[in-house]
Amino acid sequence: MYATHEDVMEQIESDRQIMKRVYWDKLRLPHIFLIRPQWDKFLGANNTYVSDTLMPDGRRNQMSSTHDLGQNFAKAYDIKFTDKDGEIKYAHQSCFGPGIWRIMAALIGIHGDDNGLILPFEIAPYQIVIVPVLFSNEEENRKIIEKCDELEEELKQKYRVYFDNSNNTPGWKYNQWEMKGVPIRIELGPKDLKEDKIVLVRRTGHKTKTTLSELDQTIKQEAMALDDDIKSKAEKYFAHNTKTAETLSEIKSTIKSFRGFVKAPFCSIDKDGEGCADIIKAETEGAYVCGIPWLKEEQEQPRKGAVCAVCKKTAKHIVYIAKSW
Ligand SMILES: [Zn+2]
Repeated sequence: MYATHEDVMEQIESDRQIMKRVYWDKLRLPHIFLIRPQWDKFLGANNTYVSDTLMPDGRRNQMSSTHDLGQNFAKAYDIKFTDKDGEIKYAHQSCFGPGIWRIMAALIGIHGDDNGLILPFEIAPYQIVIVPVLFSNEEENRKIIEKCDELEEELKQKYRVYFDNSNNTPGWKYNQWEMKGVPIRIELGPKDLKEDKIVLVRRTGHKTKTTLSELDQTIKQEAMALDDDIKSKAEKYFAHNTKTAETLSEIKSTIKSFRGFVKAPFCSIDKDGEGCADIIKAETEGAYVCGIPWLKEEQEQPRKGAVCAVCKKTAKHIVYIAKSW
């Protein structure tokens, strides 16, 4: 509840920054903040501000929304307050909805591969799994297990670690923990024990050997490298699947042959643009006009003389268009 509309906009900006910290700094998920067109906003709100990402099938996934409710609901429900100037006024309101399961779907779908989950280091329930590589030499095996126990004890002080001492084969364990998205796997076999080395395998595929004294440093490096791997892969996907089009037939063919967002000149995101959005939806078998970037610096201006891809009236915006989940 706020006294002024400026307070609402401040809250909406703060919601945006919270989502950016979660999506990008923690989860490494590319996204764009958009203002939805007037015909697609939350019913009764002045405006709806969202964050959209792209799933691997090229559909947008709306991960959060904040609605600027203005005084509309306060008037309907008679919510008033006494302002600093002594006057009784209607309150301003906003409503913020992060879609937790939509964010989880993005995390699983965007970073995962054919072997299963890939989780950023900071949020993984287990950050490290230790897998002993045992053969038939009982004495040797005992030493390896002992060493793994020691490693687990030491690493537990700083990380979330699991020592997989089950009877399954190392190969089975590798697959199992890859599927669960554990960022780093430590392997320890007879040869490593003799050489006093430890093998670290990053979930994105890179293998490295280190010594006990350098283990902590190597874990930190590998954790950072894993986050960089998934971040840059996701960023490339997002950028590669954001295309541009000028005409309705270009929008149609781009949506048909590519995944993701198409940016196109468009007449209006106010109510008068709804007819053109309906035509796009019908012609593309379901693509939505998703809106324009919420941040001024991300808004593209149509070039001089550009016309709406549908009605050929002067284009006021470059809008994002995509199919949706
Ligand atoms: Zn139009």
